[in-house]
Amino acid sequence: MNTPVKKNDQLTVHIEDLTHDGAGVAKVDGYPLFIQGGLPNETAEVHVLKTLKNYGFAKLTNIIEPSPFRVEAPCHVFSECGGCQLQHMTYEGQLQWKESMVRNVMQRIGKVDAPVLPVKGMDNSWRYRNKSQIPFDLENGEVVAGFYQTKSHRIADTNTCIIQTDEADRLLRAIKEKALELDLTPYNEETKKGQLRHLVVRKGRATGEVMVVLVTKHVKLSKKEDIIELIREVEPNVTSIMQNVNTRNTNVIFGDETNILWGKAVIEDRIGVVRFEISARSFYQVNPVQTEVLYKQALDYAQLSGDETVIDAYCGIGTISLFLAQKAKQVLGVEIVPQAIEDAKRNAELNGFENTYFEAGPAEEVIPKWYKEGKTADVLVVDPPRKGCDEALLTTIIEQRPKRVVYVSCNPATLARDLRILEDGGYKTKEIQPVDMFPQTTHVECCALLVLDK
Ligand code: SAH
Repeated sequence: MNTPVKKNDQLTVHIEDLTHDGAGVAKVDGYPLFIQGGLPNETAEVHVLKTLKNYGFAKLTNIIEPSPFRVEAPCHVFSECGGCQLQHMTYEGQLQWKESMVRNVMQRIGKVDAPVLPVKGMDNSWRYRNKSQIPFDLENGEVVAGFYQTKSHRIADTNTCIIQTDEADRLLRAIKEKALELDLTPYNEETKKGQLRHLVVRKGRATGEVMVVLVTKHVKLSKKEDIIELIREVEPNVTSIMQNVNTRNTNVIFGDETNILWGKAVIEDRIGVVRFEISARSFYQVNPVQTEVLYKQALDYAQLSGDETVIDAYCGIGTISLFLAQKAKQVLGVEIVPQAIEDAKRNAELNGFENTYFEAGPAEEVIPKWYKEGKTADVLVVDPPRKGCDEALLTTIIEQRPKRVVYVSCNPATLARDLRILEDGGYKTKEIQPVDMFPQTTHVECCALLVLDK
């Protein structure tokens, strides 16, 4: 194998970019080297660890010229934990990198030349997550809890996670301290022994309501009353204590059985003025502050006057649909998970919306069927998973020609690919607005507006 660098080479490189995993990328005669911990615009000495045919890995040994955005990562498990990738960069640096990453991907993958606006970031880029799912384990007789290490099932033990809520921290510490006393010995994936698997904490930002879910291996809790007392004492804002039983030998978090231990089975939150009920297992956006920013953008791009019918494809529990229903004549939502459609219907009712209709099924089948039934849309909103829109759905859009398409995306690469298809089919991308839903990580959401190009 003839690569420009070899294992154990020591060299000086200039780092140009970041990968999705947050590793720095330097090129040596066009050969990419991935350097954990390196930042764009840094000159550094590195030690080559491994070379493959098309790329290699190196370790940062000395930073000669640091990035102006380099900072000490505030979290003590940052280098082990798989949760965050960018804590060693200032927030301003993170936002600048995300903006240029989106712009590059649009040009490289989609040949899309629409303006990419500066990323809408958060005023406070810490403690933004409203849901924590904390695995527990027993290591040498000690209770450990925290988050999984990158690409592994080993826990990076910690008593605090600074992108999650204070409530989650306090509950994590209390349960960790008292787990053995309360007969909540952590479950071990290898020995298959033990009881407590995950502690899940959810909070309604707007209402302050907190839900605690103990995911256990067995249904019987011998110290149930003591567990409830501890949780309520540590966190007086808890309004719901639930137990989920997962008897399987799997690393999927939840099992099929959910029981109320104390209080209500749901907590409530609001995004803008729209109310949502959240149950132990229901899907809900994890950064409600930025969700509102993103959905306001989608609403703005939809330019609704009150006469329009809007289709919301990949609608989940109807978050965007209900946001749009405030301004549209009618909103039709479609989503593949039947349970989410049930949640969407319930949330529509909770808010008193009578202009929404939800149907479970694949968007690429349900929307063509709607068109055949005469259910047509003036505006179409899509918010697909990472793999982007199904091609059959894009074909339907191009045939049916709704006036505006608002594309909400969590993956710039598939967004760029799909924008190219829609542009070739007669649309023009007017603008792309990235929104930072996940500070300290490499993720970025985008909202794009497309209009018919006459
Ligand atoms: N718009 C929602 C959810 C977006 S996440 C919100 O903002 O909360 C993407 C959603 O697409 C998921 O709920 C997933 O279940 C759904 N999904 C995946 N493939 C689908 C398909 N082929 N048709 C319809 N929905 C699909």
